Amino acid sequence: MDKKINVTVWDESEGPIGPYPQGIYTAIANFLKASGEFGEVRIALQPQPEHGLTEETLNDTDVLVYWAHCYHHMVDDGIVERIRRRVLDGMGLLLLHSAHASKIFNRLVGADPWKLRWREVGELERVWRIEPAHPICANVPEFFDIPQSEMYGEQFHIPAPDELLFISWYEGGEVFRSGCTFTRGLGRIFFFSPGHENFPIYDMPEIRNIIINGVKWAAPTCKPTITTGQQPFNPPKK
Ligand code: ZN
Repeated sequence: MDKKINVTVWDESEGPIGPYPQGIYTAIANFLKASGEFGEVRIALQPQPEHGLTEETLNDTDVLVYWAHCYHHMVDDGIVERIRRRVLDGMGLLLLHSAHASKIFNRLVGADPWKLRWREVGELERVWRIEPAHPICANVPEFFDIPQSEMYGEQFHIPAPDELLFISWYEGGEVFRSGCTFTRGLGRIFFFSPGHENFPIYDMPEIRNIIINGVKWAAPTCKPTITTGQQPFNPPKK
């Protein structure tokens, strides 16, 4: 796609959290901007009118990066439906960390993605790269360690993903499908779980690289013509 990818970073928060004095959304937006890979990089926040996701903003968004943790229930169903329609129409969606429990993930993929094991003791997470040829895995080592993380463990109640890109192992013994892709309609979805708010995980170069790769992968590549409804009978000419 010749056009630069416009990104909107959405966050339920409006301020400092853990090691992020300007909010996780600022940290994510800053490294996306610094990569030089994208066009507009905007921030939208849950407390804003329409959660910052107006029709105009979403229509000008190629990829929505969605970070959330505790306030899924405060997201308006009408806005969830608006996001869903844009994804079906081709907008890419990155679901980060506890976005596993977001309404939009559930609406788009089904099953019960909010169901999983979890624990917060600051244990090590080892992230294994499973599909080295996938664009999201570009320049990702075979594995890397997050020194302190929140454990998310199987069983993760999702339908089988289109692609399983990363599996995490935790010091406490659990494993988790930490990087998965799905396609819904024309939209590409990438779920990536590392990113707990109490540890500086979004400062890690490996994590930034994966998210940048994910945004590039999820961006729409074309606008195909799709015909539906009753069709005229149109056999090949003899
Ligand atoms: Zn967390």
